[in-house]
Amino acid sequence: MALAIMITAAHKILKNTFGYSEFRGHQEAIIEKVLLGEDAIVLMPTGSGKSLCYQIPAILRDGVGVIISPLIALMHNQVDALRLMGIKAAFINSSLDYSEISRIENQVRNGEFDLLYMAPERLLMESSLELFDHIKISLFAIDEAHCVSQWGHDFRPEYLKLAIIKDRYPTIPRLALTATADDLTRIDIKERLKLQQAALYISSFDRPNIHYRVQLKDKVRNQVLAFIKKEHMNETGIVYCMTRKKTEAIAAFLVENGIKAVAYHAGLDKKTRLENQERFLKEDDLVIVATIAFGMGIDKPNVRFVAHVDLPKSVEGYYQETGRAGRDGEPADAWMAYGIGDVVLLRQMMARSEASQEHKRVEQQKLNALLGFCETTMCRRQALLNYFGEVYPNPCQNCDTCLDHVETWDGTLAARKALSCIYRTDQRFGAAYLVDVLLGNKTDRMEQFGHHQVSTFGIGLEHNAGEWHSVFRQLIAMGFISVGKEYGSLKLNGESKSVLQGKKVIRFRHDPKAKQQKIPKIKKTVSEQIDMTQPHIKALWDALRELRHKIAQEQNVPAYVVFHDKTLAAMVAHKPKIKEDLCQIPGVGEKKLDLYGDLFLEVIREAS
Ligand code: ADP
Ligand code: ZN
Repeated sequence: MALAIMITAAHKILKNTFGYSEFRGHQEAIIEKVLLGEDAIVLMPTGSGKSLCYQIPAILRDGVGVIISPLIALMHNQVDALRLMGIKAAFINSSLDYSEISRIENQVRNGEFDLLYMAPERLLMESSLELFDHIKISLFAIDEAHCVSQWGHDFRPEYLKLAIIKDRYPTIPRLALTATADDLTRIDIKERLKLQQAALYISSFDRPNIHYRVQLKDKVRNQVLAFIKKEHMNETGIVYCMTRKKTEAIAAFLVENGIKAVAYHAGLDKKTRLENQERFLKEDDLVIVATIAFGMGIDKPNVRFVAHVDLPKSVEGYYQETGRAGRDGEPADAWMAYGIGDVVLLRQMMARSEASQEHKRVEQQKLNALLGFCETTMCRRQALLNYFGEVYPNPCQNCDTCLDHVETWDGTLAARKALSCIYRTDQRFGAAYLVDVLLGNKTDRMEQFGHHQVSTFGIGLEHNAGEWHSVFRQLIAMGFISVGKEYGSLKLNGESKSVLQGKKVIRFRHDPKAKQQKIPKIKKTVSEQIDMTQPHIKALWDALRELRHKIAQEQNVPAYVVFHDKTLAAMVAHKPKIKEDLCQIPGVGEKKLDLYGDLFLEVIREAS
């Protein structure tokens, strides 16, 4: 087929199968590249439509498209969603028994599928490669391609072996796709997957609908509870914690306080883990409290918030985790609580690390960047996008620092006092003790060490304890104070000297008080954009949701797989009367029109 004809065919599939009238961003260029049989590396933020980039060429080109994805737990849902659109798709993974696998392999041999999903370890099995040797393959798509990079927390050793595809099937186009955008990851993908010749497509990583907010930690359980109660009652969200124990404690606390919540971490037995994940996908008001074990590949569109009660390890991690919010493009929140304890803990973990020098250096830089982000006084979106090498010209007006201008103060003298207090007490104590010394709060312990007699005792009365904690936190974040391996004791380092000698001007941010923080002017979510105060509109909306729910249950798929909220809202707004009108609604493709068109039209007709 000539390229022009194929492109026309691609547009047809977009409209008829997926129900969308235009390609977004680089989608069309990428599809064209693959249709020409060439390789591509695709860096696009979560929710921007990466999957179409391989689904459409796989449908159009001869043979089956092999999609490599690390998360077998999600394949089932992905394939169900495709089948519901009339796409011939299947998956092979360890959840299937031997006879099911050989049945599917036979169908693959007979050319019955356009898309086949599998995990990397399955693809690397000799039996799979042998199968591939004897069939026609349209393309290989390597999803979550950042898993090939050792620098990220999603590193999967099997991904390194995927370079074999290039050697064994040199003429078949390959796509590597990820939502992780930093340079190191990009270089790793290129080199380790042998994609040196691939065209690179980078989209803007901005997620304009996400509101970013970082709060100072102060009894974090209560803070996260208040945040959910005030802004996200009965909505879906993810709360990320560092430890397994904490996920369970916080989930239990939320439940006690009337929020529907479950925990998720790698230590749960497989059945519970899958159950909780499944519930998260299907229910529209469940909060999941999880470690980073949860989330990769989660494509639930209506996650309304992602909250971090502990710091992630890097800006990449933060961006990926918060990116799971608002994939439907509707307003969503990225909320984080952060305090001196987090900074001390992460610095201490770094000090204890036994990794190679090079690895440590990279980790150090990543942590510095993250702490810099927490402490920034500039627009958070600008800071984030800058980090990924993108220029975002003006403050976004949709983050806490834009909405609550952050004041700074000259802390040169305070910094000197803090550092010299560390020195006078022999670099053996944590912030709480040092603050007591600066404020002249004599304790038994202090007397025991004779620190009520050092020259820094009581020299900090111009600030209160909270302010001194803020000084220490920011100095640690800036790298002027190091954290010892044991007990989190604070120490001086090579950088401290210039501050102690007064050669460096230091500016600190004034920590905003949590209760004074402005809540974003809440933009309406899709269902609220329709005027629900009008009873007939509300009735139609509810009836459509009810029908969607019924179909989803019958098909055993999440409601959004049937139709997104956006699609239902468009039905309410336009009240299509006949099928020709209904298929103009975004998200309504031919197959769904066929299957459910009459049912939805009937509900709309009855309501008007
Ligand atoms: P990701 O990049 O995170 O893999 P998906 O491929 O899951 O994103 O797409 C996110 C959502 O955007 C899906 O609901 C998809 O149907 C929708 N989408 C993708 N391409 C388009 C388009 N051209 N027009 C409208 N919606 C689209
Ligand atoms: Zn901003």
